[in-house]
Amino acid sequence: MRKNEEWVVLSGALSKWGGKFQIDMAVEEMAELIKALMKYMRKINGSSRYDVVEEIVDVEIMIDQLKLIFVDNGVGHEHYSNVRDRKMERLKEMVGNHIFKVQQMENKNEAK
Ligand SMILES: [Mg+2]
Repeated sequence: MRKNEEWVVLSGALSKWGGKFQIDMAVEEMAELIKALMKYMRKINGSSRYDVVEEIVDVEIMIDQLKLIFVDNGVGHEHYSNVRDRKMERLKEMVGNHIFKVQQMENKNEAK
């Protein structure tokens, strides 16, 4: 599905069920992802990467709706981008010289 069509569907979901209900759904989906990850790590009931991916996608869809509520109709994209940049820079510092190692691996792959 194209991004524009996705936006229409996500906005339609918010219009149909309302923001408060979709926030509840987001919490529920995040709990399902936590449960799938716990089952995967403990290898319970043959839980697989496919089960985890199902829950990742559910959470992503809910995150997209949370962004419509809290970013698009909330604090705005500039604030969101500033927060994301700040947190990514912090992660970059924490990752440290491992970034250099990944870049070296990429360069080797490109040379092949
Ligand atoms: Mg789910």
